[in-house]
Parts: sequence; C-alpha cells; structure tokens
Amino acid sequence: MDITNDIKNKKTIEKLAYYDSLTGLANRTLLRDRMNKAIQSAKREKTKLAIIFLDLDHFKLINDTLGHSVGDDLLIHIAEILKVHIRESDTLARLGGDEFVILLPSVKSNIDAQNVASKIQQTLQSKHDIGNHQLYITSSIGVSLYPNHGEDAEELIRNADTAMYEAKNSGRNNYKIYSKSMGNYIDQQMHLEKDLIQAVKNKTGIEVFYQPKIDSISSFISGAEALVRWRHPTNGMIFPDQFIHIAESTGLMIELGNIIIEESIFQVQEWNKLGLVGLKIAINLSARQFQGSNLVTFISSMLLNYQVSPSQVEFEITETLSMTNMTNTLRILTELKAIGVSIAIDDFGTGHSSLAYLKKFPVNTLKIDRSFVMDIIENDEDKTIVQTIISMAHSLGLNTVAEGVETLEHVELLQSMDCDQLQGYYFSKAIPKDEFTKFIQNYIPNN
Ligand code: C2E
Ligand code: CA
Ligand code: CA
Repeated sequence: MDITNDIKNKKTIEKLAYYDSLTGLANRTLLRDRMNKAIQSAKREKTKLAIIFLDLDHFKLINDTLGHSVGDDLLIHIAEILKVHIRESDTLARLGGDEFVILLPSVKSNIDAQNVASKIQQTLQSKHDIGNHQLYITSSIGVSLYPNHGEDAEELIRNADTAMYEAKNSGRNNYKIYSKSMGNYIDQQMHLEKDLIQAVKNKTGIEVFYQPKIDSISSFISGAEALVRWRHPTNGMIFPDQFIHIAESTGLMIELGNIIIEESIFQVQEWNKLGLVGLKIAINLSARQFQGSNLVTFISSMLLNYQVSPSQVEFEITETLSMTNMTNTLRILTELKAIGVSIAIDDFGTGHSSLAYLKKFPVNTLKIDRSFVMDIIENDEDKTIVQTIISMAHSLGLNTVAEGVETLEHVELLQSMDCDQLQGYYFSKAIPKDEFTKFIQNYIPNN
C-alpha cells in the first residue's frame, strides 16, 4: 500500500513540476530541460533546432470581456489543435497566459521552421466554438534557431519572444524570424510605455488632429474624424498605430480615450462659436473604453459641459469590438443612441459582421474600409464589394462613408455609386485644429 501511494505521489509531484495544469502541456521547466538536451545533440550532430513562440492576438480582450472561464476553455482548445500539428519528437509547452512554445529538435534550415509556423497560423486562423461563443482567433509567431540566434535555452526563448513582438507590431497574424536588429524592440516599448503613462497623467503631448469629411452630393465639408497624435518630447510625432496598443495593454486607454473625447467635443464648441456650425465630429472608440463603467456618463457630461448637441457627435467602433461581447456592446450602444449621438462601424468589410448583427445594433453609418477603396478603380471585385456595401447600407437606412479617398477618380466613382460621404488624402490628411479651421474657411467645394 505504502509503496503504491509513494509511486502515485511521485507521479503527481512530477506532473505538477513538469506539466501545465490547465492544458496538460509541458511547462517552462520541462521545455528548458528538453531544450538543453536538444541543444547538446544539435551541437554533436552539427544540426539546427528551432523555437516557435506563439501568442494569441487580443487574448486579453477575450478574457476581460467574456470571462476567465471562456479564456481557459479557449486555451485548452488551442492546445488540442496545436497537439495535432506537431510530431512525436517535438515538444509543445505553455509558458503561461496565452503563450505557447514549440521546440523542433531538428530542422534543416529556417525554411522548415517557417513552414511549421505558417501552417499553425493558418490552422488557428478561423472560427472556434467555445461554449456558446464563436471566437475568431489569430496568432503572432516568433521563431529563433540554434545556433544562429542563441547559445542556450534562455537566449533562444527570449529571442523568439522578441521576434513574436515584432510580428505583433507589424500588424499581428504574422510570423517573424529573429534578427539582431530586433533586439532593442522590447526596450523601446518599455520606454514608450513609461512615457505614455506620463503623457496621459499630465495631459501633455496628446493632440487631436482632424481630417475633413466631405458630403458627396453638396461637396461641402460635413465634419471631421478626430485622430489622436502624440508629440513625444524626444522622438517627435508618434502615430496611433505606434501607441494605441500600448495604451490598451496597460489600462491607459480609458483615460487616453477620455482626453480625446473631451478635446474633440471642446473643439466642436469652438467651431460652433466661430460660426462654422453643424460640423459633425467622428471619434474613434476602442474596445477598452467599452469595458469601463462610465463611458456613457462621461460622454453626456462632456456634451453638457461644452453645450454641444449630441447630433454633432458620432462614435466609430470596429467590427471586432462589436463582436467580442455582444451583450455588453449592445447595451452601451443602446445607451449612446438614447443620448442622441450616432454610431458608425469602422473599417467595414474587414471583420466578420453580417447583416443579422447590423440589424441588431443601433448603427447609423458604415465606413467602408480603405483597403477596398484603394483598388476600386483597377479591381472589379473591390468595386463590386463597395457597390454592394453601399446598396445594402442604404436598404437598411444607413449612411456610408468611404475612407482612403486619394484621387479624383476615386471621388467621381464613389459619387456615381451614391456613397454619402468621402474622406481621404485627396481632400486633406488629418491636420491640427487651427489648420482645420483655416482649411474650412478657405474651402471651395468643386461642384
Ligand atoms: P482609422 O480609424 O481607420 O483611421 C483612418 C486612418 O487612415 C488614419 O490614420 C488616417 O490618417 C488614415 N488615412 C486617412 N485618409 C487616408 C488616405 O487617403 N490614404 C491612406 N493611406 N490613409 C488615410 P491614423 O491617424 O494614423 O490612425 C490609424 C488608426 O489608429 C485609426 O484607423 C484608428 O484605428 C486608430 N486611432 C486613431 N485615433 C484614435 C483615437 O483617438 N482613439 C482610438 N481608439 N483609436 C484611434
Ligand atoms: Ca476611424
Ligand atoms: Ca477606418
């Protein structure tokens, strides 16, 4: 009896020490162990080994909006899928959170590793049924190779992690092989993060630029989209693609978002005072802002404070946001509708919304993603997509805005397609408030 118990205990202890309790995959300790062995053998045989570092995109968002148990189920589900795609000799580990690592103990070249990475990425990139949620998953992958990118397990994991960050930064759903030039990336991000916290706390350097939107029939300026910029004390002007994700991952987004909302609504009041009446401002909202408890109250108080009519304000949300937690999104959108502001779906056509969802949401406007507008002249398929979106929107009683309008050809084609509003470099890029005021005062509609 005692002996069987001992063996059982030993097995349990081993399990705890070497395996991840949620997914049953190898943990960091076992991975390191296997890596050390693989490195020894690669050294002897003069072969290569590869480390694939995988991180799910927007996992935190799923966890925060749908709850940890859905997040856990998703991780277990992903682990099962990954298991199917590796060989017996490979080691699949979970390092914690949504970070998975695969050790390929023997590869001929980085091509082998790339093939595995892209195969995994393609398999994961689809709809997953988790409980009663349908989740769209993508992942970012970084790859490092022995001996090229590190001598020991620590260094190889660290460099694969760095490559993974680089993949995330270049638009997610991507994989990258480590290179030395990436080394400073994490360092840079940490500095930026520290500086952004300061900027938001002190409200310094956060600026809102405005890009005009043109009414397609009258050719007059109907309003503007508010686009945030960060004037960094030493690095100069930083664009949102470089810092919004930092704000989102550090919990700064709500505060930053509030600064942008206040500034934009204040600016509408200024324009009203100057006699430039009736402009409508479009403000981007990120998923994080939907998680705070005070969004609608804050917006109402700003409208009141600056005496701006809610009919002069529109909020842009992305399809991914609206899909993540339908119940919560629907509740907030309904509240926003009740206070009288309008709602636009941003980057329309790139996400996964369907007509059914659109009907459920109190939406006023669809913004056609600029990737469709870009090729609308040359590409018949994109032209058909845009035409379909516009007709569909109109039949649902929605307005359409085309973004990324860059040429006169774009303008004329979109006008002929009955697109309601146009926005893009053809008219102007996003400019500081005073410049916008001058722009509108000097603007002559070419009708
Ligand atoms: P978005 O909402 O799709 O904004 C449009 C982006 O396209 C802007 O880039 C704008 O400058 C750019 N753009 C406008 N016209 C053209 C054109 O004709 N051609 C091309 N190639 N580009 C054009 P920006 O300002 O760098 O913003 C990038 C993204 O950052 C935005 O994409 C939005 O998702 C996010 N963002 C910007 N401001 C805010 C903000 O205040 N809050 C939040 N949550 N996100 C923001
Ligand atoms: Ca937008
Ligand atoms: Ca957009």
